[in-house]
Amino acid sequence: MSLRLGTPRQKEEKAEVDVLIIGAGPAAFGAALYSARYKMSVLVVGEFLGGQLNNTSEIENYLGFERISASELIGRFRKHVESYGVKIIQDRISEVKRDGEGFLATTKRGMKIRSKAVIIAIGLKRRTLGVPGEKEFVGRGVSYCSICDAALFKDADAVAVVGGGDSAMEGATLLSSYAKKVFLIHRRSEFRAQPILVEEVKSKPNIELVLDTVVTEILGDKSVTGIRVKNLKTGEERVIPVKGVFLEIGFEPDLPFIQNLGLETDDYGFIKVHGYMETNVKGIFAAGDCTDLWKAFRQIITAAAQGSVAAHGAYGYVEELKLKDKKTPSSP
Ligand SMILES: Cc1cc2nc3c(=O)[nH]c(=O)nc-3n(C[C@H](O)[C@H](O)[C@H](O)COP(=O)(O)OP(=O)(O)OC[C@H]3O[C@@H](n4cnc5c(N)ncnc54)[C@H](O)[C@@H]3O)c2cc1C
Repeated sequence: MSLRLGTPRQKEEKAEVDVLIIGAGPAAFGAALYSARYKMSVLVVGEFLGGQLNNTSEIENYLGFERISASELIGRFRKHVESYGVKIIQDRISEVKRDGEGFLATTKRGMKIRSKAVIIAIGLKRRTLGVPGEKEFVGRGVSYCSICDAALFKDADAVAVVGGGDSAMEGATLLSSYAKKVFLIHRRSEFRAQPILVEEVKSKPNIELVLDTVVTEILGDKSVTGIRVKNLKTGEERVIPVKGVFLEIGFEPDLPFIQNLGLETDDYGFIKVHGYMETNVKGIFAAGDCTDLWKAFRQIITAAAQGSVAAHGAYGYVEELKLKDKKTPSSP
């Protein structure tokens, strides 16, 4: 499912608002609703309307709805926010710079947006290995979603799963019921996944653990034929023939577009936030899956809640700036 938003009409289009919200997922909508109710001028710029909700079909745990399709929930979020006159633009923010006391953002299509405050609600992107062959064989044997693609490997002689967390364990277990053999490649000797999931993997006779090992290349012709791996302890390299490689190595926020501002992140690349979702950069707030808050519990309701709190934080900041502007005598 991919819903489209309004697109900027001309390349040189400009906007000036109190708060720019980057993203169009639950956190961004929560932030937009509360920002509008605080009577701030708001612009939402998001690449994909609904964010990760596009990856699922039914939602059964959003308060007020016993069961609702993801597309309907996205539609309701949008309608609610637009009822306050908030404009939503489909585009990607490619840069945010300081501009006096505020910020200047540029979108991929060339739109320029000045704002007093920014709320980052960009969710997460999948981590990649960055090895030769990975990009080339995406969709031709390389997958980032075991749940989505496992069935495509029914009766395959062998597949590999890379990773050591919950998704890797769940992926390996699922794939073991489709492929004849599953190699689980992990760079350490211990797994960080829940022990119960690790036990399940170990109980499957057709899953082989390949530990202390990294993938250095994905090999193939028309599609994947194997992986080159290296044992980090012995330095030994070998090729394992496989038809599919499932990279279940986690997610991280995609932050380069804003890193020139010196945004503080934790060891895993998540944006550090404080009380009202403020970051270490004055005027920049963050909300949802991209923050270091409630990392073990990432849901629609928590993302929307963080968005609403970020709007509250941004409101305080914008009001302070406006008050300062009033007090400062204007130059002749
Ligand atoms: C398969 C799956 C099923 C799930 N099921 C449930 C469920 O049943 N219930 C539940 O509560 N949660 C569920 N979740 C979790 C939930 O979807 C997330 O926690 C939630 O979507 C996070 O919201 P967010 O707004 O922080 O990020 P996201 O939803 O990821 O939204 C991020 C937004 O930012 C945009 N973006 C990123 N970078 C830029 C940029 N540079 N410029 C402009 N826009 C940008 C993206 O396009 C997107 O619009 C599920 C997640 C997945 C993957």
